[in-house]
Amino acid sequence: MDEFDIIRRYFAPLAGEGAFGLQDDAALIAARPGFDLVVTSDAVSEGTDFFAFDPADTIAQKALRVNMSDLAAKGAEPFAYLLNLSLPHSIAPDWLAAFAEGLASDQQEFGISLLGGDTGATDGPLTIAVTAFGYVPQGRMVRRNGARPGDAVYVTGHIGEAGGGLAIFKREKHGLSDTDRDQLTARYRVPQPPVALAARLRDLAHAAIDVSDGLIADLGHLAAASDVRIVVEGERVPLSAPLRALWGDQALPRAVTAGDDYQIAFTAPPGLAGPFTCIGGVEAGEGVDLLIAGRKAVLPSGGYRHF
Ligand code: ADP
Ligand code: MG
Repeated sequence: MDEFDIIRRYFAPLAGEGAFGLQDDAALIAARPGFDLVVTSDAVSEGTDFFAFDPADTIAQKALRVNMSDLAAKGAEPFAYLLNLSLPHSIAPDWLAAFAEGLASDQQEFGISLLGGDTGATDGPLTIAVTAFGYVPQGRMVRRNGARPGDAVYVTGHIGEAGGGLAIFKREKHGLSDTDRDQLTARYRVPQPPVALAARLRDLAHAAIDVSDGLIADLGHLAAASDVRIVVEGERVPLSAPLRALWGDQALPRAVTAGDDYQIAFTAPPGLAGPFTCIGGVEAGEGVDLLIAGRKAVLPSGGYRHF
């Protein structure tokens, strides 16, 4: 199989409008009057973002979903993506077939299609880079820099579950039931970004960020961009029962410094109800404080960093 066979066989069936069946040099995104095109790119690498033993379909889903969370955080509705693959020479047809199936199922889930990409071989780790495109009504992208004193801070989903899954894969000792263990490892393999929330975020959020490096670290980015201080009340951070069972009294500090959540943190007026949890507030000042039992906590690490 050369790269042309791979593209024709596995990826051409995933091509959407403007992709010309992946048979041209470039794809076309028709201008959509009244909308802005929102663009984001994120890569996942074997050994860093997934394990060699992970199923190929969940690797594909993770590659797409780490991008879907960025679009959702910006209030954008996803519609298409580009796929850049660095494949080890040893890649097998079965692996590619399962990988393409994972892409196909998430294309259905999120209403997106494949526009193009690049396929190459590497002696290094398997790497999948996705560039994703979404639309927002003109001028409505939700930025990181709009938080104001008096806002409440909200977060979607549960925090730290993927970090718990990663700890389990790294053989941390635990006494979890199989169900609890599987829930956490599934969150690590297949993030659950709240894509359906994009339209509401456009209406409600003053600022938003996707949580990928750790809740406290990412709130730090939002606070810096907005030139405000964020205070998180530890008791309010949503932790799932399996995660509490895994980490016990260390669940909170570990959850808020673990990465890979792909949930959304945002600031908006206080008192909102929805598929999200209020975890604190915005004040004048700078930085992020985590309060545990009313006292400032000192955290072990500032969040995931590549370098
Ligand atoms: P070039 O010679 O310009 O690098 P390619 O031969 O790499 O072009 O690509 C041919 C077509 O296949 C293009 O439309 C490209 O977007 C598409 N393509 C290549 N790799 C992928 C991929 N991994 N996923 C989707 N489309 C791809
Ligand atoms: Mg190319």
